[in-house]
Amino acid sequence: MGIPVIVMGAAGRMGAILTRLVRESDDLQLAGVVERKEKATELSNLGCPVATDIASLLDTLPKAVIIDFTAPVVSLATARAAARTGAAHVIGTTGLSAEERAELEGLAVKTPLFWSPNMSVGVNVLLKVLPELTRLLGDDYDVELAEIHHNKKKDSPSGTAMRLAECLAEAKAWNLEESACYCRHGIIGERPKQEIGIQALRGGDVVGVHTVYYFGPGERIEVTHQAHSRENFANGALRAVRWLHGAAPGRLYSMQDVL
Ligand code: NAD
Repeated sequence: MGIPVIVMGAAGRMGAILTRLVRESDDLQLAGVVERKEKATELSNLGCPVATDIASLLDTLPKAVIIDFTAPVVSLATARAAARTGAAHVIGTTGLSAEERAELEGLAVKTPLFWSPNMSVGVNVLLKVLPELTRLLGDDYDVELAEIHHNKKKDSPSGTAMRLAECLAEAKAWNLEESACYCRHGIIGERPKQEIGIQALRGGDVVGVHTVYYFGPGERIEVTHQAHSRENFANGALRAVRWLHGAAPGRLYSMQDVL
């Protein structure tokens, strides 16, 4: 018997890959899936309970680890249900507001809770090295960020772009709310020194591209991460499941803890 896992949104783009990888793994066991009523019938051949709400599954599987790539409102409701039974909950959903993140931090005191807007090893290593690069280049270099995603993506800028922007702002000791610039249009004047431009492109089936630009005097550095497939994120999420299983509650964990 492997670690029992419940996949939220199992018919979604990420959910379908996660469901397959859990079934293929030797140390995880697909204990149940949750989907909206309209899509739940697509999942009837998985050989595990299919539910339309997490609470009913947690009654019988109180200690399962939940993987959740759905939508902010769903992930919050799921975290509240997990906190009632003590189930561990790995969240990959992006687009959470500051209030929703704060609520997750509160729930993390009661149950093992993990949230990361990007589960890839590459992006998380970037988050470690970008502060050093930003500090070494110093104030002569203007910092900008661009991201590209598929045309079905609902939030903008991406959760990863926002995490990267937070990391750049922290390295500069700037307040991101004051220095972020999401749109340039019309006669806007010269670029202020204390600004981080964050731009989003949408189209086709692009899994995810993020580029951080450092524009300096007479030169430019570009650091790009390209996700070639969603399996990259799914494998990171399964790493988080193994790490979170049996972990004590305390604070909201992230991929930085797992790595
Ligand atoms: P998707 O729309 O393909 O899948 C979401 C699924 O959730 C759908 O099947 C939907 O029916 C289901 N769902 C909605 N409400 C539900 C409910 N109440 N109960 C159960 N299921 C419900 O989206 P996606 O491309 O798989 O992305 C999902 C989320 O994951 C997004 O926020 C996306 O930005 C994020 N994401 C994060 C990472 C990461 O590394 N952290 C990587 C990729 C995507």
